[in-house]
Amino acid sequence: MKIICIGRNYMEHAKELNNPVPSTPLFFMKPETSLLIRNRPFYYPGFSNDIQYEAELVLRICKVGKHINERFAHTYYDAIGLGIDFTARDLQQQAKEKGLPWEEAKAFDNSAPIGEFIPVTELGDVHTLEFKLLINGIQVQYGKATEMIFSYEKIISYVSKFVSLKMGDLIFTGTPAGVGPVKIGDRLEAFLGDRKMLSFLIK
Ligand code: ZN
Repeated sequence: MKIICIGRNYMEHAKELNNPVPSTPLFFMKPETSLLIRNRPFYYPGFSNDIQYEAELVLRICKVGKHINERFAHTYYDAIGLGIDFTARDLQQQAKEKGLPWEEAKAFDNSAPIGEFIPVTELGDVHTLEFKLLINGIQVQYGKATEMIFSYEKIISYVSKFVSLKMGDLIFTGTPAGVGPVKIGDRLEAFLGDRKMLSFLIK
């Protein structure tokens, strides 16, 4: 399986990092080894001094597709969860300045903690989902699917022009404003609506 991540999909987040608002979705990938499951702790890596959280809605792909028409894209995901797109912001900044790829900053081991996935049939209108991230009990991010620049369907249609999607692939749909650093000892808790989806420690 593979993990596809969308960058700059919320206006306020693009602004907070002084990035231009894109006219087409921007995506990058994380490998399977970036997954961190079952609320296991995240061990702060030695190669960065600025690991930042990005809470995101995550789509689970349920069938194979290429060149997916936006009108049918909703049939290609069957569940939604929450994930953290951990980013070594210091390494990402260096890569951006040099025009280099982002893998060192984005694709490292355990950089993609995910919680359970909820079938879309249980979620009601998936386009109005709201989610939040708390650190040590304090809310730091709040996102609404209605504020995405590119919808789930637009993302699936666009990405599948370049990369075939397969069952079990995950798509991180971008983070809202409020990103910031984590430190050892922090507890991260993410909620989809009122439902707790993730709770883990930084060690
Ligand atoms: Zn992200």
